[in-house]
Amino acid sequence: MTNESQMANTFEKCSVEVLLSGEAIQRRISDIAAEISKDFKDKDALIIAVLKGSFVFCADLIRKLNLNIAVDFISLSSYSGTSPDGRVNVIAGLKETPEGRDVIIVEDIVDTGHTLDFLLKELSLKKPKSISTCVLLDKKCARVKQVPVEYVCFEVGSEFVVGYGLDYNGFYRGLPYIGILKDND
Ligand code: 5GP
Repeated sequence: MTNESQMANTFEKCSVEVLLSGEAIQRRISDIAAEISKDFKDKDALIIAVLKGSFVFCADLIRKLNLNIAVDFISLSSYSGTSPDGRVNVIAGLKETPEGRDVIIVEDIVDTGHTLDFLLKELSLKKPKSISTCVLLDKKCARVKQVPVEYVCFEVGSEFVVGYGLDYNGFYRGLPYIGILKDND
C-alpha cells in the first residue's frame, strides 16, 4: 500500500481513489509556470487566488514563477456539500488594487463556471489592464457558463474530486494528490 492510499484510508466512510499523483501535479505546474513567466515578463502582474480551494496550488505555482509578482486572496462561496446552486457570495475581499494591473485569477477547479463568471464580472468593474485565468482542474463537461480559461493544468471528468487544497465539507485539503471521493456504503 502506498503512503497516498494509507492517508486516504484514514477516513472511515469514504475512500479516495488517486486520480493525479503529487509528482504529476508538480510537473504540470512547472510547465504552466514557465508559460506564465514568459507571457507576463515585464508586466505588472497581480495574482488573485480564490480561497479556500486554491491556496495549495497557488503556493506551489508562485514558487515556480520566474516573476516578481504580487499576490492577493479573495474568498468566495458557491458550494454546499457536493451540489452547485449557482449563487456566489464574496466572503472576504481584496486588499490590493487591480486597477491598471495584469490580473491572473488562480482557481482550484472550474465546474459550472458560475464562480469564475461572477469573479470576472466583479474584477472587470475594478478596471484592470487585463484579466487571465489559471486553473488547476477544468471540469469542462459540467460547464453552464462559458468562461475564458487561459491556463489549465488538467482536464477532469464529472466526478467529485478532493485533495491538494480541494475539500469535501472541510476535509481532505491536505492530501498531497488529487483523488476521486468514493462512498464506501
Ligand atoms: P463552479 O462555480 O465552477 O461550479 O464551481 C467552482 C467551485 O466549486 C470551486 O472553486 C470548488 O470550490 C467547487 N467545486 C467544483 N467541483 C468540485 C469538485 O469536484 N471537488 C471539490 N472539492 N470542489 C469542487
